[in-house]
Amino acid sequence: MENSPHDPQKTPQEWSKHCESASGSIRRPKLPLSPPSTVKKSSQKPLNSVPRPKKLLPELQKCSSRARKPRLKYRPEPNTVFDLELYVSGARNSPRCNESNAQFLRYALQYSKRTIVIAGAGVSTDAGIPDFRSSDGLFSTLRGPGVSSGKDLFDYNVVYSNAEMGLRFNRMITQLHAKCQEVSPTRFHQMVNSIAQEGRLRRLYTQNIDALEDQTSHLQSKIPLEKPFPTTIQLHGSIKHMSCNKCSKIYHLDPQLFKSHDHHVDRDIVPLCPQCAEFESVRAIAGMRSQGIGKLRPRVVLYNEIHPEGDSIGNVVLQDLKGKPDCLIIVGTTLKIPGVRAMCKQFARQVHDSRGIVLWVNTELPAKNLEDFVECIDMTVVGDCQNIPVMLE
Ligand SMILES: [Zn+2]
Repeated sequence: MENSPHDPQKTPQEWSKHCESASGSIRRPKLPLSPPSTVKKSSQKPLNSVPRPKKLLPELQKCSSRARKPRLKYRPEPNTVFDLELYVSGARNSPRCNESNAQFLRYALQYSKRTIVIAGAGVSTDAGIPDFRSSDGLFSTLRGPGVSSGKDLFDYNVVYSNAEMGLRFNRMITQLHAKCQEVSPTRFHQMVNSIAQEGRLRRLYTQNIDALEDQTSHLQSKIPLEKPFPTTIQLHGSIKHMSCNKCSKIYHLDPQLFKSHDHHVDRDIVPLCPQCAEFESVRAIAGMRSQGIGKLRPRVVLYNEIHPEGDSIGNVVLQDLKGKPDCLIIVGTTLKIPGVRAMCKQFARQVHDSRGIVLWVNTELPAKNLEDFVECIDMTVVGDCQNIPVMLE
């Protein structure tokens, strides 16, 4: 007896042979290209489709960057001042710390999906790192004979102008480096890290050189700056690295190399690059012409020098502007640096054009000369930024 089509004995290969021989002898009726309308379509989903729940539990929504953003029901008048210190201390009825404005601030931090943070020294002072401009900041404490302001020690034209200034600069760098080695990220850093962990942070631009972000899980920077761009952009470099001005090699900063005592002679003040020195000795053995040895500098950008990574940072900013950020947080900075101020203006306009939220968070109100873009600020949050995570709790 011939095997029936349902014969379980046949292997798939035998079946295909069977069908080939059958098609040679039997003429099949022509089938229509699509099934007639009376045939019910299979309701079975393809195997590779991912099941998507129609509703997510609120707990899951919180940690998913694709979670639906609730509609913003209240937007304060432009440049409304919110007193964070008063609010955290329990006051609720003052016009400067009412509950609606607190909700607006929470909304910006908890639901924005493409947040840009532009940070200054104010986010790190709580870790014990001095800022620049306050009464006990570096510009005051570094003042001394021959230094009218500590700002001089961050001026390229000054720090390498003579041996005495060079020694002072080295002293300041080694002390700051030691300080940065022993501190940890602040609560504010951890809050921004959580936003990044939830996939809602587009970028953190920091003017700080303390590299505290590198101690967090999701705010890593990258040196040198290249694609794919890291989450954190160190606008003014990092105290933890040094680089050669000739071969551009980047090293971890070794404070031992930066002599700071008065008995050190001139040639010790700016250390030499080991890589260049090695190449130079090889050239000498080979009887080749000397090309000189580069000098090592802390990888921080000083006043009056061209930013070595200015073009790359410009590219990151352009990319982020195109990405339509929906929230800008300018925090812990008075925006005294013109380049950073211009960048903030660009982001503020872009965010506002897309009906996003612009926040200014600092212990003081924006200066008068920032008025031309203050109109883009939705809320000026006055107080210590470390109290924002406290408020969210
Ligand atoms: Zn070198």
